[in-house]
Amino acid sequence: MHNTPEKQPPKSSDTPPAEGGEAERRLNFVEEIVEGDLRSGKYAGRVHTRFPPEPNGYLHIGHAKSICLNFGLAQRYNGKCNLRFDDTNPSKEDVEYVDSIMDSVRWLGFDWEDRLYYASDYFQQLYDWAEQLIQAGKAYVCDLNGDQMREYRGTLTAPGKNSPYRDREVDENLDLFRRMRAGEFADGSRTLRAKIDMASPNLNMRDPVLYRILHATHHRTGDAWCIYPMYDFTHGQSDSIEQITHSICTLEFENHRPLYDWFLTELGIYRPQQIEFARLNLTYTLMSKRKLLELVEEERVSGWDDPRMPTLVGLRRRGYTPEAIRSFCERIGVAKFNSVIDVQVLENAIREDLNRRAPRVLAVLKPLKVVIDNYPADQVEEMDAVNNPEDPSAGTRKVPFTREVYIERDDFREDPPKEFFRLAPGREVRLRYAYLVTCTGVVKDEKTGEITELHCTYDPATRGGNTPDGRKVKGTIHWVSATKSLPAEVRVYDHLFTQPDPGDVPAGGDYRQNLNPTSLELLQECRVEPSLAGAAPESRYQFERQGYFCVDRVDSSPDRLVFNRTVSLKDTWAKIEKGQKGQKKDQKK
Ligand code: ATP
Ligand code: MG
Repeated sequence: MHNTPEKQPPKSSDTPPAEGGEAERRLNFVEEIVEGDLRSGKYAGRVHTRFPPEPNGYLHIGHAKSICLNFGLAQRYNGKCNLRFDDTNPSKEDVEYVDSIMDSVRWLGFDWEDRLYYASDYFQQLYDWAEQLIQAGKAYVCDLNGDQMREYRGTLTAPGKNSPYRDREVDENLDLFRRMRAGEFADGSRTLRAKIDMASPNLNMRDPVLYRILHATHHRTGDAWCIYPMYDFTHGQSDSIEQITHSICTLEFENHRPLYDWFLTELGIYRPQQIEFARLNLTYTLMSKRKLLELVEEERVSGWDDPRMPTLVGLRRRGYTPEAIRSFCERIGVAKFNSVIDVQVLENAIREDLNRRAPRVLAVLKPLKVVIDNYPADQVEEMDAVNNPEDPSAGTRKVPFTREVYIERDDFREDPPKEFFRLAPGREVRLRYAYLVTCTGVVKDEKTGEITELHCTYDPATRGGNTPDGRKVKGTIHWVSATKSLPAEVRVYDHLFTQPDPGDVPAGGDYRQNLNPTSLELLQECRVEPSLAGAAPESRYQFERQGYFCVDRVDSSPDRLVFNRTVSLKDTWAKIEKGQKGQKKDQKK
C-alpha cells in the first residue's frame, strides 16, 4: 500500500531518476490519475499502456512525447507498454512505415518486449462484433453515398436526419453486411453504421460509419478483406482486447470518448480508461504527417530523414541523441491544454547533452590560408589539446601544427570594427593550443580583390598559447594545419520554415510559402584536424567555436567525411547578448 499523502511526489525507490540527475519533479496529471487508480485498486494494481501509431508516415518529435509518456508510465509503475499499429487504412499504409516506426521506438530507448500488435490482427474479431451489433439492432447497412451522408449529418448547430435505410430489418442488414464482406458491392456504395442518435450534439454519435467497402490490398492481410473497419470502431476495442488500463491519446479524441464507451458498453467488453493530453506543437515546425509526406514527395527535402525534418529519423541524422529527446520530453511535461513550445527548448536539450559528452575538435568551415613566415618549413609540432573541458577524464590529444595553417575566413578583417578581437593587419591573436601570431601581410587576387592568403609571424615563446610575459591577447581563434588536416563537407542547417507558425498563412496561401530558402548551406571545402580520420558514422563532436556536428550516417565514408551541424553553440545566449548590446555584431572572441 501507498502511504504517501496526496500532494507529495513519490519517493519510491523503483522510480528511475530523471534524466541528467534532475531533482524529482512534481507528478503530471496523468501520473496523478494512475497513482489514484493504483491506490483504489481499480485495475488490481496493473498499469498497462500502449503506443498506437498508424503506419502511414514516419514518427516525429510529437510522437516522441507520446512514446515517452506511455513507455515512461510503464517503467515508472512497473507496468507494461505495447506497441500497436493501428493499421485500418490500407490505402495509406506501408511496411516501410512499420519498419521505421519500430526502429525509431527502439532508438529512443524503449522496448515493447513480446508485445507487438496490429489492429489488423483483430479484423475477424471486429467483424464478429459488428455482426453482434447488427443482431442487437444497433447497427445497419446504409446505402447513402458520401455526399448524401454529409447532408444528412447536420451541423454543429443543426441536428441531422435519419437515413432512409436506418430501419432495415436485422436479417436484411446481416445479409447485406455479409455480401459487403463477400465483395458483391462497389467501393463506396454501402456502409455499416451504428444506430445511435442523429440529433446528438456530439457529431461523432450521429450514426457513425463502422465499416466501409474498399477493394484494396492491405500490407498485412493482403486481399483477405474488402471491407475495413473505421479507426473509431477499431481503436477502443483494440485497447480493450489488449486489456489496456490507461488509454492515453491527444485532446482531439476527447469527443470520441463517448463513442468508444458506447461500443464497449453495447458489446459488453472490458473498458480501459481514456485520458487525453495536449499534443506537442513546436515553433518553426510542422507536425502534420500529411504535410511532411508532401515535403518528401515534392522533394523539398531529401527524404523523411532529411536533417531538417522533425521526424525521429531526421533528428537522428541531424545528430540528436535519444537522451536529449527524452530529456526534452521530460522537460516540457504533460498538460491538458494546447500550447506551442519554443523550438529552442529542444535545441537546448541537445546542446546540454552534447556539451557533456561531445569531444572538442578543431575544424575550419570556410578556410583562409595563413603562412607563418618565421616558422621552419618542414617542422611539425604536436600540440596538446583538451578533449572536453566539461569532462577531465576525456583527456587530451595531439594536434599537428605546421608553417601553413587555415583559419576561418570570418576570423580575419582587413578593416576591423571596434569590437573585433580576432585577426587583422598588425594584430596579434592566439591560435588555440598553439602560438600567438601577428598578421604581417595580406595577399589578394589581383582581379577580384578577394583575400587569398595571409602572412603572419609567430612568437616561439608562446608555445601552447601561453604568454610568459603576461601580455594580454583578447582573441583566440581555431585553426588546422594546411598540410596535415583532412578535407570534409559540412552541411549547416537552419529551420525549415521562416515563420514561428508555418501553417499560419493568409487566406488562399499555403505553408509552402513559409519554407526557408536558406535552410541548408553546403560547405564543401572544409578542413578538419587529422584525428577525425575514419570517424564513425553518427559520432558527434563539438567543432570549437562553431557548434555541434555529427558524422552523417548516410553519406559519410572513410574517404569522404561528411558532417551535419546539429546545433550552433549557445544560440540563445548569443541572441540575448546581441539584444543587450544593440548593433554590436562581433559576439565571439
Ligand atoms: P494523423 O492524425 O495524421 O493520423 P497522428 O499524429 O494522430 O496522425 P498516429 O500515428 O495516430 O498519428 O499517432 C500515434 C500516437 O502519437 C497517437 O496516440 C497520437 O495521439 C500521438 N501523437 C501524434 N502526434 C502527436 C503530437 N504532436 N504530440 C503528442 N502526441 C502525438
Ligand atoms: Mg492518429
